[in-house]
Amino acid sequence: MKNLVFLGPPGAGKGTQAARISARLGLPHISTGNILRAAIKEGTPIGLKAKSYMDAGNLVPDEVVIGIVKDRIAKDDCANGYILDGFPRTLPQAEALAQITQITMAVNIAVEDELLVKRLSGRRVCPACGLTTHVNSYSGANCPTCGAALIQRADDNEATIRNRLSVYNKQTQPLIDFYQQRGILETVDGYQDIDLVTDAIVRAIEA
Ligand code: AMP
Repeated sequence: MKNLVFLGPPGAGKGTQAARISARLGLPHISTGNILRAAIKEGTPIGLKAKSYMDAGNLVPDEVVIGIVKDRIAKDDCANGYILDGFPRTLPQAEALAQITQITMAVNIAVEDELLVKRLSGRRVCPACGLTTHVNSYSGANCPTCGAALIQRADDNEATIRNRLSVYNKQTQPLIDFYQQRGILETVDGYQDIDLVTDAIVRAIEA
């Protein structure tokens, strides 16, 4: 069983790597950010509640995201494991998760703040297939994989990015100790080339 948590600051490459590892190992990729953005788009009660927090770069209340994850990991496709991307983000979330399931490994993708601001402010995402690109490496307006028009996330502006990094440092960083103390933390250097990061994660998971 591979019940994995991907940790790391916004812009470290959690989403990109989770999608790649999901494809390689056949585990479902569960991103609370993606689930919340879909809820906002659909105008569901959860979406309405989450929007103002997300636009400001603050965390959505614990009980909302815990409920989402609890329902999601109970589904059949999670029987052999899953990849949680962007959850948990607070100690109460990590504690709630430990009550409902056993996490087998937490992968921490480490990158420093200044690079994160550059990565996030130039980030573009494909709303159709989920591909993430950067203006420095790809200047087209349409997704190179599926052709849909690329968009910039509402929270990828500099003021919101700085707040998200500060929220991460205060509220999510302590989870590194949480999983270290449980002996299941693996840290991967997130500065390396994207393929090397993927390989390092696969090696850690399969070791
Ligand atoms: P992400 O796509 O992971 O960068 O998440 C985008 C935004 O969704 C975050 O800035 C939060 O507002 C919200 N969010 C996603 N996951 C969580 C979580 N586990 N706890 C609280 N808020 C979350």
